[in-house]
Amino acid sequence: MNNNIVSDLPEKNEPCVCASCGETFGCGAKFDGCWCTEVTLSEEATAEVAKNFDGCLCPKCLNAFASRPSMKLIYRDGTTEIVLDAVG
Ligand SMILES: [Zn+2]
Repeated sequence: MNNNIVSDLPEKNEPCVCASCGETFGCGAKFDGCWCTEVTLSEEATAEVAKNFDGCLCPKCLNAFASRPSMKLIYRDGTTEIVLDAVG
């Protein structure tokens, strides 16, 4: 058994570097499943992550995104922009 992983990450995971803070974390997406499926992100937050980061985020950053309020700006020409509250 590998007890080097600190949090409650799945045993099977591959090293991943957080696209936001550079922290390494384990991603289990290629195995039985990933912890990230248990993090509930709003549609807006998911889009914001996809727009800003090219890759996975660590649990800390993903949870930070999940808990940050966001709002959708709709311009007169029909384009939309998602803005996350910068507090925190
Ligand atoms: Zn991170």
